[in-house]
Amino acid sequence: MDRSSRDVLREMGLRVTAPRVAVLDVLVDHPHATADLVAQLVGAKLGKVSQQAVYDVLAACVGAGLVRRIEPAGSPALFETRTGDNHHHLVCRACRRTTDVDCATDARPCLTPSDDAGYALDEAEVVFWGLCPSCQPIDDHTRQK
Ligand SMILES: [Zn+2]
Ligand SMILES: [Zn+2]
Repeated sequence: MDRSSRDVLREMGLRVTAPRVAVLDVLVDHPHATADLVAQLVGAKLGKVSQQAVYDVLAACVGAGLVRRIEPAGSPALFETRTGDNHHHLVCRACRRTTDVDCATDARPCLTPSDDAGYALDEAEVVFWGLCPSCQPIDDHTRQK
């Protein structure tokens, strides 16, 4: 959060444009946003920006490694600015809330398959599925006893 979106774009050698700055700013405030939400929020900031322009900016930022795209099963793609740290996600089955969780090991890939079949693996994509605190039935614990 200490570096502005402008600085980030400049450091990556990307042209600083209003839509790019707006997209990155939106993602800092709304991690794991869908492209539609980003387009909506960027539109609210800048006025007239086409959805396609926002999609193009997202694609360019993903390509440059500024933005990470995750795609939990059954979800549209989600975008975030937290990249390069191999963090994982907790996803609520009920409300789709998505929360970052640090990788438990620092190695990549952080899981070893029982058989790598000769593949040179560099990543394990981990999504933890369950119910977030607000979606868990409150009386579940007492009822189970
Ligand atoms: Zn939930
Ligand atoms: Zn994340």
